[in-house]
Amino acid sequence: MEVTGRKEEFRLACSSARTEGHTVGFVPTMGSLHDGHLSLLAPAREECGFVAVSIFVNPLQFGPREDLAAYPRDLDRDLALCDKEGADLAFTPEAEEMYPEGAPRVTIDPGPLGERLEGASRPGHFRGVCTVVAKMFGLVGPSRAYFGEKDAQQLAVVRRMTGDLDLPVEVVGCPTVREPDGLAMSSRNSYLSVEERAAATCLYEALARAAWLVQGGEQDVLVLKAELAKRIGAEPLARIDYVAVVDESTFEDVDRIRGPSRALVAARIGDTRLIDNLPLRAAGSGENP
Ligand code: AMP
Repeated sequence: MEVTGRKEEFRLACSSARTEGHTVGFVPTMGSLHDGHLSLLAPAREECGFVAVSIFVNPLQFGPREDLAAYPRDLDRDLALCDKEGADLAFTPEAEEMYPEGAPRVTIDPGPLGERLEGASRPGHFRGVCTVVAKMFGLVGPSRAYFGEKDAQQLAVVRRMTGDLDLPVEVVGCPTVREPDGLAMSSRNSYLSVEERAAATCLYEALARAAWLVQGGEQDVLVLKAELAKRIGAEPLARIDYVAVVDESTFEDVDRIRGPSRALVAARIGDTRLIDNLPLRAAGSGENP
């Protein structure tokens, strides 16, 4: 596996792969890799002749009181994992390489979807995400890029940006990988104490109950949101940030389940902010969540 921290080398390696006739598969990450990240590499390897991974903790998407400095980093381990999982290229820039003049003056406006849910709780987050993803897409060039449903709103915002700006990238969404007890894998899970780790399953349990209720015919979103809040609220270590139910394709809030929908939750477990989501599918809709 080739490793570079230089933008121009990264650009050149991706374009050489295309010249050799390969489809480029791109997996952007912030490192501290776990099986959720590695699950994005599998379809990339299957569908593309050349797989590039980026490992970059993007300062632009962190708020001033967020965990940028504390965010877990272990580059040697990450590179060994990428190599083992069959990546061809790892891009590991420093912030100065990505933003040589400091914060960029031109950034990408994520639009109305970027203002809601995660965007409302983390002002500027999706502007930071869209800006770094657009820069990465500019370096990678025409490609297929793999994103996790774990960050469902991010996937929706990136899809919209790619469509609205006609970027030559096909965005592929991949299912959430979970621990055996249902907790969605996340680099931030490493912040949790033993007690908090046990409490954190309330997010998945709340979502799974909502999905089960919808399968059983519940369509009233007020009922579903109350159930989500009840399960998370019952956990003394959890503080709810939001519970939401949105239309799967528009990501707009819905008041009844009429088609493919998604429940999303964000909560603090102790000091650690976690997010999770699950698709909601009515019985007989022909789609399994
Ligand atoms: P991050 O390093 O947190 O920025 O995540 C990089 C990519 O991995 C994003 O597309 C995430 O949605 C995806 N990802 C993170 N955790 C998971 C998970 N548990 N299952 C599937 N994808 C994930």
